[in-house]
Amino acid sequence: MHKATPELIQQIVSEVLNEIELEAIPIGISNRHVHLTEQDFQQLFPGETLTPMKPLKQPGEFAAEQTVTIVGSKGEQSRVRILGPFRKRSQAEISMTDTRTLGIPAPVRLSGHLEDAAEVTLKNGEHCVTIKGCIVAKRHIHMSFKDMARFKLSAGDTVSVRVKTEERTTLFEDVEIRPGEKFILEMHVDTDEANAANIKPDTVGSLIRR
Ligand SMILES: [Zn+2]
Repeated sequence: MHKATPELIQQIVSEVLNEIELEAIPIGISNRHVHLTEQDFQQLFPGETLTPMKPLKQPGEFAAEQTVTIVGSKGEQSRVRILGPFRKRSQAEISMTDTRTLGIPAPVRLSGHLEDAAEVTLKNGEHCVTIKGCIVAKRHIHMSFKDMARFKLSAGDTVSVRVKTEERTTLFEDVEIRPGEKFILEMHVDTDEANAANIKPDTVGSLIRR
């Protein structure tokens, strides 16, 4: 009979963990970016059209040619990409590092949850607009309803994702599910989170069932 040594317990725990790791979740790294209403875009780029430069993985979404400068109390960040299409509310998504270097006290929130978002000024040359819509995006997984059923998850659920990487394997907890009919399975983290866990563009994570 085996004695329950710490080594044996460790081995059993890791075997169980391996068993409950589900299929691979592709990971997308989001750099700081903004989403704009058509009205705010027109104020920043009078007479221009939002021009797609590169499609994103989620259907219909794209990185635009146009960029803006984010202005905070401690600094500015130029060349921040606009992502299209237009939204009903303008929103700036920055990293936790940006909140310090730019001096913008943005809370960690899911996209669209802007009730207590920070105020920030966006500018293009002499044109500018101030929005109450700056957040640090909460890590999340885009999931179709079909995938949600497959994983037995509901809207509002949070999951954990284990990301095995060179020298920095990390367990991400508090990962929110973002359901959408046309969403393609993809976890979104920001550049701070990606760097902390040594995540590269081709890194995948494993969903952990709680
Ligand atoms: Zn996302």
